[in-house]
Amino acid sequence: MNTPALEVQNLETHFFTKAGVLRAVDKVSLTVPRGAIMGLVGESGSGKSVTGFSLLGLVDPPGRVVGGTIRIAGEEVQGLEARAMRSVRGRKIAMIFQDPMMTLNPVLRVDTQMTEAIHAHERTSRRAARARALDALEKVGIPAAKERLKAYPHQLSGGMRQRVAIAIALLNRPDVIIADEPTTALDVTIQAQILNEVRGLARDFGTSLVWITHDMSVVAGLVETMSVMYAGRIVETGPVDDVLDRPLHPYTRGLLDSVPEIGETRRRLSPIPGMTPSLANLPSGCAFAPRCGHATPICGAVPDLVAYRAGQSARCHHVLAPRVAA
Ligand code: ADP
Ligand code: MG
Repeated sequence: MNTPALEVQNLETHFFTKAGVLRAVDKVSLTVPRGAIMGLVGESGSGKSVTGFSLLGLVDPPGRVVGGTIRIAGEEVQGLEARAMRSVRGRKIAMIFQDPMMTLNPVLRVDTQMTEAIHAHERTSRRAARARALDALEKVGIPAAKERLKAYPHQLSGGMRQRVAIAIALLNRPDVIIADEPTTALDVTIQAQILNEVRGLARDFGTSLVWITHDMSVVAGLVETMSVMYAGRIVETGPVDDVLDRPLHPYTRGLLDSVPEIGETRRRLSPIPGMTPSLANLPSGCAFAPRCGHATPICGAVPDLVAYRAGQSARCHHVLAPRVAA
């Protein structure tokens, strides 16, 4: 089966605001093979979350998906009516949010929420649903899972709540899980534990993951491929080691230079000059040009996303040390 778990082509999501039309997601294409983990990286405001919401059909007015195709395990889901999309959510694609309370209902016990999540898609007995809930909690490393089933969300720590949200995302064994900075709010030790466990689970279940983060050090040990987003567009994509070791796009280089390498404390960090642009007044060409040391007049035209090396593409008129593909 070579059908990718997720295949997104030219996705466009716009916000129709008083300030004008904001192109929060501008012709984004992503392919995630079955069982693979992809990182979606970029500074705050680059469009990562809106991309995730778009994939689940969760964009609210004034936003709207205005173009593109979204295939999950070969099935086109973009443009489905609300009812059909509800059946896709959870079963084929699920999302883990930065705030687990986006998933959890504060007034329901964990077991109630989990069995409801199963019964939304399947007719099974309460008993079978409870057994599956228990199993899912154990799989995400929740100690004394049986007692936790009876807890309300407020009785759990932040890390435990996020584990429950992850267990709920896994319940119906979706083809794809979008993880939107789910560990950002947690301390580093718990973050590392959860990353490890989720990677193992994705492997066991054959679930594909899109791991959204602003943190380059998170993707390094976790993902196989990564895409870098800037102002609503993918500016670079490729195998993670290639992108981290030999970035093509000056923005990717800038992101790498602005984070300490793992274990490194002394090196002078150089933040990218300038600010992330507001979508309300983007330059007409490459959106990064005003902050880019390589920019020339040609950058007034939007560059295409071009493959420069095997599997590695960038959207830049002045890619860094491109090597002719062998
Ligand atoms: P990220 O997750 O990368 O930090 P988001 O995807 O949340 O960024 O947002 C990308 C951009 O989309 C924002 O900078 C903003 O311009 C626009 N946007 C997001 N939500 C809304 C909204 N509800 N109304 C108007 N614009 C929005
Ligand atoms: Mg976000």
